[in-house]
Amino acid sequence: MKNIDQLADKNAKRSIRRLVGLGVSHGVGKGNVVFLPTGRSPEPRSKLAEKDVEDEVRRFRLAVDTAKRQLLELSKSPAQDKDHPVSEIFSLHLLILGSSIVERAESVIRAQRVNAEWAIKSVLGEYSAKQAALADVHFRDKYLDIEDVASRITRAMKGSRPSLTLDPNTVVVAHEMRPSAVIELAKHRPAGLITEIGGWTSHMSIVAREFRLPMVTGIKNVEKFLKTGDLVVVDGDSGEVLLDADGSSPPGYPTQSFVESANEIRNTSAVSTNDGVEIVIRTNAEDPAIYRTSEALGARGVGLYRSELLISDKGVLPDEDQQVAAYSEMARAVGEFGVAIRTFDGVPEQDSDDGVPSERNPALGLRAIRAGLSKPNFFREQIRAILLASNVGKVDIVLPMISNIDDILQARSMISSVRQEMISNGMNVKDPRIGIMVEVPSTVLAVGQMAKHIDFLCLGTNDLVQYLLAVDRDNDTVAEWYQTLNPAVLSAIKIVLEAAANAGIPTTVCGEMAGSPFYIPVLIGLGARELSINTNSIRPLIKLISGISAGDAAALVYSLKSCETAGEIETKLREYYQENWDSLFPPGLVSSKHR
Ligand code: PEP
Ligand code: MG
Repeated sequence: MKNIDQLADKNAKRSIRRLVGLGVSHGVGKGNVVFLPTGRSPEPRSKLAEKDVEDEVRRFRLAVDTAKRQLLELSKSPAQDKDHPVSEIFSLHLLILGSSIVERAESVIRAQRVNAEWAIKSVLGEYSAKQAALADVHFRDKYLDIEDVASRITRAMKGSRPSLTLDPNTVVVAHEMRPSAVIELAKHRPAGLITEIGGWTSHMSIVAREFRLPMVTGIKNVEKFLKTGDLVVVDGDSGEVLLDADGSSPPGYPTQSFVESANEIRNTSAVSTNDGVEIVIRTNAEDPAIYRTSEALGARGVGLYRSELLISDKGVLPDEDQQVAAYSEMARAVGEFGVAIRTFDGVPEQDSDDGVPSERNPALGLRAIRAGLSKPNFFREQIRAILLASNVGKVDIVLPMISNIDDILQARSMISSVRQEMISNGMNVKDPRIGIMVEVPSTVLAVGQMAKHIDFLCLGTNDLVQYLLAVDRDNDTVAEWYQTLNPAVLSAIKIVLEAAANAGIPTTVCGEMAGSPFYIPVLIGLGARELSINTNSIRPLIKLISGISAGDAAALVYSLKSCETAGEIETKLREYYQENWDSLFPPGLVSSKHR
């Protein structure tokens, strides 16, 4: 949070407190504060009634069984090699699960009549403390493994907890939210969301925009300023949270949360610039209903389906049947316009129960395609599900976080072997196109060679900016360094678009940059012809694209060559837009400082 102000409302003679953060999803919502429970808080100790003790032991055993199943699966990969270091780690975790620790935890539940979470934490905590005190570094380090096993069991128990329910007009507050938690919350239509950390391109923010939930992030120490039940206004446009002591709406703010009315939706066919260059607009969506709205607004197909959003907020991976159902439903909705399904971009098994990934540098770790290749069982299962859905509508496969050609070749060979296996089992499957996410600098530089091995590119500007400029996209404290208009970023985009055009393969720009009207003339000027954007961006973008000329956009981009900083580029763009295209932009966008 940058600051907290007091506003004096002279007419009403009341004091309004204003918390200033970063607006990451547009719209204004008003409601009462509810804190989202997170695993960050210590597991509470609850005393059980005598009659509930055996049920609790059963719940604990079920969680231990789930953890065992997960570990057996994990210890098989990669390549079924039991001497592989990864397999060894998970085998050690299985040994821990098979030890007397589990029996001890059961005795604690019975003897102390406490909840299973508390029991496992106290028993494993005791073991782990003993281990951590050992002199030998090799043995001492194993305490982390014990803690890891405790987290796995606790996580499995969370899976059996009832889901969250919300009253209408609720503003949900949390330290941060998993994207799947936002999806879950969206079903209850909260009036707004507030978090302490996060950025414009964080997945939770992207999902909030997709579901049109006003959201403000960057409100540090939020628990100091807000308490459960407080009536607040979340202004996702200005990035402010307004807190009114007397319970009425602060002046100048509507009392309804933001919902686009159905009659604003209109039908549009292909979109062309005013000099006749056709721009294909697709949408980023995982929900068929959202896709249908996007299609009615003018989108043609799904350019990015983030399959990892199917992973539950408790970190549970969807099984093959659930995946087939989800992909098929979307394939049916898009029909011939197609859906590009990206394989899991993340590593659910590595998240600890407090929601904090266990790797030191998760953005650079065993995630996305790396996780897929080193856990072939999960990857093959997902490919099977995607191939099954390919019979229902047009489906493409996108490989996330590609950083070298080996990744592409290995993934292609796994996809082809799964496909052959299905065909030899008498199944009817199509032959989807295979594309890659371009978001790592090495891929930008080698994109010409990579293009020979794939059918299309998805340019992920969210991660491209993160990896190119070495700035965490989820960390609002470095938001100033997250410069979409940095000259290096524009050069990288140019390299990719030109290399793809030379290789004769299409590129869809699918990061948040593509959904922002401010950047659209730059992207079109650099040569972008296919965009995949969120539903909310479709209408403003169609208006803008059909009013500008691609020739002028290219000349504008050429004129940026003399600029040395992102700030200079932004100023130059703003001046040009004001002079030439002001009426094409949403009100206030050109004059305000851009993210
Ligand atoms: C990107 O990185 O730009 C992208 C589209 O993927 P994600 O936001 O899911 O990382
Ligand atoms: Mg990405």
